[in-house]
Amino acid sequence: MVKAEQSDAAAQGGLFGLGEPNDAYAQYFIGRSYLNPLTDPRKTQFVANVTFEPGCRNNWHIHHAEEGGGQILLVTDGRGWYQEWGKEPRELHPGDCVAIPANVKHWHGAAKDSWMSHVAFEACGTGLSNEWCEPVDDREYAQLP
Ligand code: MN
Repeated sequence: MVKAEQSDAAAQGGLFGLGEPNDAYAQYFIGRSYLNPLTDPRKTQFVANVTFEPGCRNNWHIHHAEEGGGQILLVTDGRGWYQEWGKEPRELHPGDCVAIPANVKHWHGAAKDSWMSHVAFEACGTGLSNEWCEPVDDREYAQLP
């Protein structure tokens, strides 16, 4: 028997599909996210669809690079948020593109009342690594519409 919340999740994912629970990165997220890899990173640039359940967001993090790098998000479904450290949050809707510079601390995720899916590209560069930092403050997140 399928639980209601599972069938709800199965209806999400949008254009590029829900994929599987993002267990490998769950420690860096509040709430549940899903990952659908679209390319094989051993063969080419890694591209994946990421889906956040309502209220889900990743921790503050940094995509480090010596040259190039950063991350590009293409929002395909739902509503969500992107914020760089020290800046106002940016509301995200389908069709939005977020070009995240390398070495900039930021987070991205769903709105509290909406699922959100984005395709994420790891931009090419040298000296690439990801640094995971503290969770987004619950009170500040809860104040977002
Ligand atoms: Mn990121």
